[in-house]
Amino acid sequence: MFKDKNVLVTGGTRGIGKAIVEAFSKAGANVAFTFRSSEESAKQIAEELGLGDSKIAYHMGDAADSATANKVVQSMIDDWGSVDILVNNAGITRDNLMLRMSEEDWDAVITTNLKSVFNYCKAAYRPMMKQRGGKVINIASVVGVMGNAGQTNYAASKAGMIGFSKSLAKELGSRGVTVNVVAPGYVDTDMTANLNDAAKDAMTSAIPLKRTATTDDIAAAVLFLASPGADYITGQVLCVDGGLAM
Ligand code: NDP
Repeated sequence: MFKDKNVLVTGGTRGIGKAIVEAFSKAGANVAFTFRSSEESAKQIAEELGLGDSKIAYHMGDAADSATANKVVQSMIDDWGSVDILVNNAGITRDNLMLRMSEEDWDAVITTNLKSVFNYCKAAYRPMMKQRGGKVINIASVVGVMGNAGQTNYAASKAGMIGFSKSLAKELGSRGVTVNVVAPGYVDTDMTANLNDAAKDAMTSAIPLKRTATTDDIAAAVLFLASPGADYITGQVLCVDGGLAM
């Protein structure tokens, strides 16, 4: 379905981002992904996926750095001709009750999770506008919809992504560019690995579908929003959370 589509995914070496990279590549898209630390993992993913017909590329760099975003988008345009689908997935947590939250942890989360979205959307804005088409999918969180004690920084960054996405959807709608948000619930990845079993059990019992999400659950929603079937959907928040945020 995505043959000849050029997809950019931030934070593609682990967890949800990796699943999104794999799903697009298996669906025939050319995929470029970014990461910050493990070049070895990036290389391994590229080697595995590069065996198929579609192209794969990776770029090391902090998503919060605008120069990196400009460089990555430009290199996609130079090498492949366009950025058709942009998935802003890179994100971190630095949890603490607000009383104990440092300014550094506030800044790190807002910068990594929210400024990164600005950076990549800004870099892709003109190219998508000129090509009169494009799909932007931002990975927020149900925490940005519901709030969560101990995550004021994270919730603010994710709620910020939602307001940002709706505004950008209004700016770019007339150019045929859609901007949507996927808001995952609890997904088993490195990000959530340090929660203890009691916390995980409590979380699972609050989910109507009584299970946590797989990374493939999230990737499937992203591919739907990137597909022609979602051409008339923009400015929406799709919660993929087993019903948690109802
Ligand atoms: P992981 O920690 O498992 O993976 C994060 C990925 O993002 C890694 O590839 C990491 O690369 C990359 N990354 C992190 N910071 C940066 C940065 N500054 N620049 C470039 N790449 C970066 O996270 P998840 O897969 O769990 O989460 C992915 C997204 O989904 C995040 O935005 C998160 O907030 C969101 N989400 C996750 C949920 C969950 O339950 N797991 C629930 C709701 C939302 P590297 O290893 O190189 O740092």
